Amino acid sequence: MEKKKNNSSSSSSNSSTMTTILHNAVIVTMDSESRVFRNGAVFIEHDRIRAVGQSADILQQFLLLAHQIVDLQGQILLPGFVNTHVHSSQQLARGIADDVDLMTWLHDRIWPYESNMTEEDSYISTLLCGIELIHSGVTCFAEAGGQHVTGMARAVELLGLRACLVESIMDSGEGLPVSWAVRTTDDCIQSQKELYEKHHNTADGRIRVWFGIRQIMNSTERLLLETRDTARELNTGINMHVAEIPYENELVMNTREVDHGTVTYLEKIGFLRNNLLSAHAVWINDSEIGFLSRAGVKVSHCPAAAMRMLGFAPIKEMLNLGICVSLGTDGAPSNNRMSIVDEMYLASLINKGCEVFANGTTDPTALPAETVLRMASINGAKTVLWDDEIGSLEAGKKADMVVVDPFSWSMIPVHDCIANLVNCMRTENVVSVMCNGQWIMKDKKILNRAILSAAKQVSRELLERAGIKLPNRMNVL
Ligand SMILES: [Zn+2]
Repeated sequence: MEKKKNNSSSSSSNSSTMTTILHNAVIVTMDSESRVFRNGAVFIEHDRIRAVGQSADILQQFLLLAHQIVDLQGQILLPGFVNTHVHSSQQLARGIADDVDLMTWLHDRIWPYESNMTEEDSYISTLLCGIELIHSGVTCFAEAGGQHVTGMARAVELLGLRACLVESIMDSGEGLPVSWAVRTTDDCIQSQKELYEKHHNTADGRIRVWFGIRQIMNSTERLLLETRDTARELNTGINMHVAEIPYENELVMNTREVDHGTVTYLEKIGFLRNNLLSAHAVWINDSEIGFLSRAGVKVSHCPAAAMRMLGFAPIKEMLNLGICVSLGTDGAPSNNRMSIVDEMYLASLINKGCEVFANGTTDPTALPAETVLRMASINGAKTVLWDDEIGSLEAGKKADMVVVDPFSWSMIPVHDCIANLVNCMRTENVVSVMCNGQWIMKDKKILNRAILSAAKQVSRELLERAGIKLPNRMNVL
């Protein structure tokens, strides 16, 4: 199925530049014309796509230039998925906060966990998280905030993924662990500037560093405004949890002199800009949807986390007003499954189910499959401000792509390729993943299993250090 040939004499100008043709694939480009090639091919030069088209045309034009020719035997080739809300440092906390409300989740489980993490814990956690992300076809993720960006960056570099990393930033609020409560606004800004200097544009350009606001309840107005200005100066993005629960809006109304919630307040102080990634945005009203739309704010929709703890976000309404909405898994203790494939399926279902007409029926036409697939690909790329290079298969873009095998019990028969990818595909159908021109998973094989046992050990030690005791719900012998 794969043949290698030695073709140095006819290779492109730089003889060390690897060139590959992937052909005989159904290519779902997700470009602006939504082109799908029934028997298509791509020509990849080093880390970029040089051409996309019919197999016969690509083979005829580039055969003599290719070092490697891979016959995909009718499998589907897609742009790598972009997961726009991930807490990579929470992977070792999977299962520590099931079936609890948000404040218990935060105060009794997640904050003690995060505040006891070391850089090494974060490194292992991100490795483990990355392995799961790659298995679901993700090539790029937006970190939503953790304690040790350096640990995350080391892991991302090794995994071969692309990521926008963010430190968890809080300069005020009740109930914080002691080590966080002392952080000043100046320290928060300075620390992020240093992380930007150290890690931005590293790992062959795969890592970018953004600015973070954990949430409104832990942010002073000065922190918000300085974050806005510094991120603008450095030409990078801001990641913030927004309007997650009604209590958040009530607190904002009571303390910040506005008549609705977080989004109204952020609009009032001039914080809303097109480099803001707003996670969740569940409890927002019609005028707030208008504020987000006019400012060009991007929204990450996390269906599983929303159903577990938050509520139903007005996704159809946001899309109708032109807001760029993408998909995220959230962290392992909010979801347990870090699969963007599962999130696509859930996004399709819950947004049909929550659109209820006056006669009580739901709306099966809400969020059609193509919209959902766009949310996981090109909208994801726009959300992380990287759509000039990723999110679709087009000449000139980075070679970030996923091979899906549809010839299995879960996807056969494929009458409508797009609908099939959203409604039938399982994580198991993702067989190979390429990021930045490098295969990071090939035939379902990635990094070595030693990482899994290291992760298990580190997680046990971390929970002991944090004093987190879980109820024994089974008679485990
Ligand atoms: Zn989050």
